[in-house]
Amino acid sequence: MRDRFWEKVRPERMTPEEWEALCDGCGKCCLNKLEDEETGEVALTRVACRLLDDETCRCGQYAIRKTLVPECIRLTPQTMGDVAYFMPETCAYRLIHEGKPLYWWHPLVSGDTETVHEAGVSVRGITVPEFEVPEEDWEDYIIEEPGT
Ligand code: SF4
Ligand code: SF4
Repeated sequence: MRDRFWEKVRPERMTPEEWEALCDGCGKCCLNKLEDEETGEVALTRVACRLLDDETCRCGQYAIRKTLVPECIRLTPQTMGDVAYFMPETCAYRLIHEGKPLYWWHPLVSGDTETVHEAGVSVRGITVPEFEVPEEDWEDYIIEEPGT
């Protein structure tokens, strides 16, 4: 990967490896959201996708996730314009899309994959798997976005 590529290379010019490395490992995009049909307001819950590992905050089956969870969104430089608004506020893909810098705790900046957890930005230890909570009860699990 090129030195501090995230500060100087446009997303569409990043290598696949650089693009993947933008993910900070927070796991927040793997939490289910609830949308109010009348107001359009979106609330985050701590009910996680069935493939999320609550300890690592990574997908348990990343390579085949689209087969197992068809609704999982695949981020690309081309689709960011459509999806950035509902990504977590601290998501590196969203920050880069909005022309903002990465936070100090991002592993690319800190050089340490643990800082995203130490800063309280990730979902480590706070999630419940979606197969344990009926959808009609998700309302009881609404949270504020960690780290914001
Ligand atoms: S919210 Fe963004 S940075 Fe965090 S895990 Fe999801 S894609 Fe990666
Ligand atoms: S399939 Fe994997 S990457 Fe997609 S939402 Fe679920 S845990 Fe996250």
